[in-house]
Amino acid sequence: MTVTLVPALPTLATPSRPDPLGVLGVPGEINLDYAASAPCARAAADAVTELLPWYASVHRGAGALSRRCTLAYERARQTVADFLGARPDDHVIFTRNTTDAVNLLARSLPAGTTVVTFAGEHHANLLPWPRGSVRLPVPDGPGGAVRSLDAALGELSRDARPGLPVLVAVTGASNVTGERWPVAELARVARRHGARILVDAAQLAPHAPVDLAALDVDYLALSGHKLYAPFGAGVLVGRADWLDAAPPYLAGGGATSHVGAGTHEVRWATGPARHEAGTPNLLGAVALAAVCAALAAADRDALHAREQALLARLRAGLAALPHVVELHTFGPDAPRVGIVSFVVAGRDSAEVAAHLATAHRIGVRDGLFCAHPLARRLLTEAATRSGRRDLPPTALRASLGLGTTESDVDALLTALSTLP
Ligand code: PLP
Repeated sequence: MTVTLVPALPTLATPSRPDPLGVLGVPGEINLDYAASAPCARAAADAVTELLPWYASVHRGAGALSRRCTLAYERARQTVADFLGARPDDHVIFTRNTTDAVNLLARSLPAGTTVVTFAGEHHANLLPWPRGSVRLPVPDGPGGAVRSLDAALGELSRDARPGLPVLVAVTGASNVTGERWPVAELARVARRHGARILVDAAQLAPHAPVDLAALDVDYLALSGHKLYAPFGAGVLVGRADWLDAAPPYLAGGGATSHVGAGTHEVRWATGPARHEAGTPNLLGAVALAAVCAALAAADRDALHAREQALLARLRAGLAALPHVVELHTFGPDAPRVGIVSFVVAGRDSAEVAAHLATAHRIGVRDGLFCAHPLARRLLTEAATRSGRRDLPPTALRASLGLGTTESDVDALLTALSTLP
């Protein structure tokens, strides 16, 4: 299966400095798996290195080192709040990752809350929700998503559960297809029906600015390790009232304002501390904030244009390979971030991924991407659309980011065109 790459692949219009964050990497290794975990940014590494000599407890010591660490932690919170356009009275709670943030919100829902999601979500935004949640079918386009949500919320507020709280939980960008969901429109629909909305921004925030207040979104979750920070720090940002009324996510030191002698004599803190018991991940928070600050200072339009050019090059190259079928939910022309999933007809995806790694030192992801309902459906649709009966049951995913170059994209296309 050898195919010459089409000569008319789009080239990068902007020769701008490609990567203002200076993401780290290993020479010779081509990382096209940013959607799983992005490489660490130099800004994050520098922030950690600078703070390491000051290593001391946060919120728990009177010494100079401890006070500096406490200040750094709270400054990190403010930087993240500013980066995400949080409202002044929103809470920014540091979590381990997006999964942790969504679980925290799931445990903070007022009694009787109905959660409405779509079947296109990552498992992190499907599995934490309580029984009785509504899972809407995967829509065929952004307009379909808005209409379907409107109908479901109308039914809930009118007939099914009038007067009870409703939370809509949607992704900002799909980790399977990269397609962007119409977050602002969905937030407007939610608001009109008196519902709240959570955006899972794990895949959106690394690729596009997100502004909670401007989007009128109530809650947002993201992972530092997908945003060029090290593993172990994420955030839940959003409305204070449900979070302050909920039982603490973790019970323990730091989450209380008073503990008496009696077993249940506890006054829990309000604010982020309520859900951050135990010694916090200072270095993770500071690294995440350093990336947020660096991205806030970067020309995001230029970064977007560059990524879109690389994405167009990749997709045009894939489309030129006769045995490759791309997966998409909203159609080939829907706006998307730098993520593409596809299958190679007649080839096992895990074997292709292993070959790319061993023969070409290219890292991609294979599988169903922790979004089984969506990925299975898209694989079935791809078989129907392409008329092929030999598509494998799992897919491959290539995802791009700040360190990706044209030659990385071309290396993948060449490797796919010369599969043994
Ligand atoms: N949401 C989306 C859209 C994701 O892509 C992922 C991870 O791939 C998650 C949530 C979960 O992120 P984490 O594993 O960092 O908790």
